Amino acid sequence: MKASETSGLNYRGRFAPSPTGVLHFGSLVAAVGSYLEARAAGGEWLLRIEDVDEPRTAAGAADSILRTLERMGFAWDGEVVFQSRRTGRYRAAFERLRLSAAVFACACSRREVADSGLGTDGAPRYPGTCRDGLPPARAARAWRLKVEPGRVCFEDVLQGRICQDLATEVGDFVVLRADGFFAYQLAVVVDDAEQGVTHIVRGADLIDSTPRQIYLQRQLGLPQPTYLHLPAVVNALGEKLSKQTRAQPIDEHRPQASLTAALEFLGQAPPDGLAEAGLEDVWHWAIAHWQRQHLPRCRIAPAPAGW
Ligand code: GLU
Repeated sequence: MKASETSGLNYRGRFAPSPTGVLHFGSLVAAVGSYLEARAAGGEWLLRIEDVDEPRTAAGAADSILRTLERMGFAWDGEVVFQSRRTGRYRAAFERLRLSAAVFACACSRREVADSGLGTDGAPRYPGTCRDGLPPARAARAWRLKVEPGRVCFEDVLQGRICQDLATEVGDFVVLRADGFFAYQLAVVVDDAEQGVTHIVRGADLIDSTPRQIYLQRQLGLPQPTYLHLPAVVNALGEKLSKQTRAQPIDEHRPQASLTAALEFLGQAPPDGLAEAGLEDVWHWAIAHWQRQHLPRCRIAPAPAGW
């Protein structure tokens, strides 16, 4: 892989796709947005395959995503990191939380939590059932992080100030799942810190996870990166593009057309004919003309026609 020629001392970004399916327009937008933010700042850009959720990982998806990114002309710094090979790091972080009594074993099934009430975003909110010990004759399933009342706030570069009271909106959340896998929330925090990521640019479908991740960073004494949440791409029915909503794969044989569409979605104004230019010219134009102030500030936006 061609390494960046910039030193990127102050900016290290990343793209962290989950290999649950092919690269679609929604993931391409996150890749392009994070890449251009990093390169326009003279920074580095890392690639991490988020296959911590092994049951949801699709066979061949990681290879297909990597090949598509390569054919599209993305040049990442360093080796690709796979979460599935980093379980020891997550366990070490978990043990630190356990030693400080920040986590507790929980016997509740998904069903019991779902039946007990909803948080403000409509997702089930954990009511604290096992916080002070397992109920009699119940076995531990998952491990949850205790959250204290109080708002967790951060300043999103694009979306402004975001606050969430985890205790009322989410409740104590899972860091080690009942099936033995570490939760995405823990893995992402450990990885971003260990890889020295300073700036996270990703879709706003993840914005509700950010306060949980900041809370975990504080519990583990890790630095808090800067966040920028791009509008998440939705289809004509308002659904997030994904394997479940049958998002089309990016056509890697027409990378210029896909990149130009992603640039337009991101509020940039590619000149006429860029979709027919050479791939290097497209990237050259995109990095040189990146205008963060033109990014749309909404949380969701529809995919352009045909994507
Ligand atoms: N793996 C997540 C996804 O593909 C992204 C996580 C992140 O960027 O923090 O939705």
